[in-house]
Amino acid sequence: MSALFSVRDLCLSFPDRAHKPLFGAAPRNEVLKGFSLDIPEGQITGIVGESGSGKSTFGRVLVRLLEPDSGQVLFDGQEIGHLGEAALRPLRRDLQMIFQDPMSSLNPRHRVWRIISQPMKRYGRGGTKSDAIAALDKVGLPPAFAERYPHELSGGQRQRVGIARAIALEPRFILADEIVSGLDVSSQAQVLSLLKDLARDMGLTVAFISHDLSVIRHLCDNVIVLNHGEIVDHGPVAEVFERPSSEITKTLLSAIPLPELDAGWFDEP
Ligand code: ADP
Ligand code: MG
Repeated sequence: MSALFSVRDLCLSFPDRAHKPLFGAAPRNEVLKGFSLDIPEGQITGIVGESGSGKSTFGRVLVRLLEPDSGQVLFDGQEIGHLGEAALRPLRRDLQMIFQDPMSSLNPRHRVWRIISQPMKRYGRGGTKSDAIAALDKVGLPPAFAERYPHELSGGQRQRVGIARAIALEPRFILADEIVSGLDVSSQAQVLSLLKDLARDMGLTVAFISHDLSVIRHLCDNVIVLNHGEIVDHGPVAEVFERPSSEITKTLLSAIPLPELDAGWFDEP
């Protein structure tokens, strides 16, 4: 299995403004503390950990919305961790993101078809209304949705539009950061099974951030457990869940009601 990303000695810190002295620079808050790992191509890798453990920061480094302080981020063998914006431009289409809160990431004044077609045009991947309708079809929304505005959609439908916008660009990588957190359980199951099917059909590599291990268990091939900016467990989901090596992972696992989970909930239409 080849690695789409190889991350080496990744360090990132933010200025800790709450502890800034009156004179001089703020101390740094180390958020990613020098870890290394590979993310296999064509698989779904879950990133789990408590709030504040660095999941979103790590994801934002992968799609290069953030530049690490030090360390390497190899994308398909190319070092991208420290590229400037101009050098990143040809890679931007390949590194897409689906956001936690689609209400704030979808332009409220644009109809759905424009929301999907604008990035397609920007990246030279078509962008007609019928291209947008084709993307909607892939996420199970009928053509009439092209004319709607975000506020006319349910949470699950908005998240589908976010997915349609990302996959319409035919990226190689999608970062999905807590994308089902705001949804009811049945919409969650539908969005997750859609994402899983699309990832498989398109050969996408997905990093799926969640604080919910039951979701990771059903969706992901691999899992990374982060704690205070360090990797405390990493590997195929079945192995990590059956033989967690860290106390952190054991605690996270003990917090989910796996036995109560209806075995079929995830696969429902
Ligand atoms: P998670 O997604 O696991 O909840 P984050 O990556 O969002 O964690 O945050 C990790 C830590 O970094 C937290 O302590 C958070 O307060 C801090 N942090 C995140 N983004 C910023 C930022 N832009 N400026 C300063 N601190 C930040
Ligand atoms: Mg986060």
